[in-house]
Amino acid sequence: TDDSADAKKETLTMATNATFPPYEYYEGQDIVGIDAEIGQALADKLGMDFKIEDMEFDSIIPAVTSGKASMGMAGMTVTPDRLKSVDFSDTYATGVQAIIVKEGSDIKSVDDLFAEGANHKIGVQTGTTGDLYTTDDIEGAGLGTVERFQKGADAVLALTQGKIDCVVIDNNPAKSFVAANEGLKILDTEYAVEDYAICLPKNSPLTEKINTALAELTADGTIQKIIDKYISA
Ligand code: GLN
Repeated sequence: TDDSADAKKETLTMATNATFPPYEYYEGQDIVGIDAEIGQALADKLGMDFKIEDMEFDSIIPAVTSGKASMGMAGMTVTPDRLKSVDFSDTYATGVQAIIVKEGSDIKSVDDLFAEGANHKIGVQTGTTGDLYTTDDIEGAGLGTVERFQKGADAVLALTQGKIDCVVIDNNPAKSFVAANEGLKILDTEYAVEDYAICLPKNSPLTEKINTALAELTADGTIQKIIDKYISA
């Protein structure tokens, strides 16, 4: 290898929250998952070094806008509100806000959360779309309360302990959490369907490069291969 060229390599720093299997989570000391591998593949395509910075989910956008990170990648949903402070790449995955309950729960469908006098305690991860939607639609309408946790796994723990009635969270992490705990299930009805994308500083020259690299990695099957490695059909 050419050391002088390596020394000049720029670093693509990915801000994430590694509590979100199968997109980003710890395996021993390493952060692995779909986003970690796509991030690495993007860096390779762009001829950049790659580094992951783990932080709270609601610190990711501030890290990107302040330049502490080059991009944020965390199963992050494109929302109109986030678009006020960051740009998003093209979409690379679809997410669904799912509802986890205890077996035998009186919550059978998403409609039960909206029933007059329902008054459920809903667990979410702070700052996620699950938090934003339920805070607006349910707490805001006086139909229940929202309990916020820094990690989805902590919300799920509170559910197993009977402290809350359900957890609203992305479907693939939901599957991991349900698999890791007895007596929980995911409802068949979905709360919302969303697009995941990479957030970048507003008007960054990096955005077009990322989109081009994403398109190439999609065309040559790399993205699908990474997704298939972590999510069985
Ligand atoms: N997709 C959700 C969001 O963007 C959750 C992401 C996450 O918790 N990492 O808010």
